[in-house]
Amino acid sequence: MRTAPRRWTALTAVAAAAVLTAGCGGGSGDDAATDGLTVVAGFYPLEWAAERVGGDRASVSSLTPAGAEAHDLELAPRDVAAIGEADLLVYLEGFQPALDEAAGSEAGDAAWNAGDAADLVEGDHHGHAEEKHAEEEHAEDEHGHDHGDEAVDPHFWLDPTRLAAVGDALAERFTELDPDGAAAYEENAAALRADLEELDAEMEAGLATCAVDTLVTSHEAFGYLAERYGLEVVGISGLSPSQEPSPAQQAEIADLVRDRGITTVYSETLVDPAVAETVAEEAGARVAVLDPIEGLTDESAGEDYLQVMRANLATLQEGQSCS
Ligand SMILES: [Zn+2]
Repeated sequence: MRTAPRRWTALTAVAAAAVLTAGCGGGSGDDAATDGLTVVAGFYPLEWAAERVGGDRASVSSLTPAGAEAHDLELAPRDVAAIGEADLLVYLEGFQPALDEAAGSEAGDAAWNAGDAADLVEGDHHGHAEEKHAEEEHAEDEHGHDHGDEAVDPHFWLDPTRLAAVGDALAERFTELDPDGAAAYEENAAALRADLEELDAEMEAGLATCAVDTLVTSHEAFGYLAERYGLEVVGISGLSPSQEPSPAQQAEIADLVRDRGITTVYSETLVDPAVAETVAEEAGARVAVLDPIEGLTDESAGEDYLQVMRANLATLQEGQSCS
């Protein structure tokens, strides 16, 4: 029942966007008094951060359409053209392969990898490099299945403090391109940081005392969030939702759910809930929905990053039995 209206909504949004684009097409030169920046972002959290930092000096668009799965982005010819024309492409290396390619071939010096400022770590979130090396030998015994240990986890934005660092770095990059905006960019990034630190404090307080500290999710999107707030994350799929788990891996996670007294398994918006539902059913747990905020739709539990993160916090507090 959910599929049909969602598809209809997505098509409507695309149609509306097309009308808007057509309507603005000729007028963009009229109000270019400030000679603002044209910024193309890979997907929603980068778009949102760029909009916040750019304020009214930047025109920001996202390459991932609302409701589309961000990992599997495919670029249309007009997207490639937009990348070529933009003052800056804000992307995340290793997250959207199509964009990694276009960053090199189309954007050149105008490509800006948010991952540098976000301080990305490998998918297992074990901390220091020395520890990690020692643990790699035991990884198979501990987990019994492959987490893609060598792969870098791209999902940094689910830790608000890392997104704030990206905002600060964006302000510096925008200033290089548009020195007249230096004060505005700095002020905007500071306001963004203040909002994100407020959210961070709420999450830290809200998740400080939870009866269950293992987080079982559809794919491994929540490693940075878990690391920040003292939870341990187990992804049913790997770092990308398209990595299908085997029946043996699903059964193993169902065992873990039972063993650790986990009451809630999380499916995700924009990802088929079937895998999470199978594990939950096998283990006698319930399913709740978390939003990895890889895109925003009409069905998102909020209208921007901050609102959806607060909805995630409420979902987690219930699902992990936090007091
Ligand atoms: Zn993801």
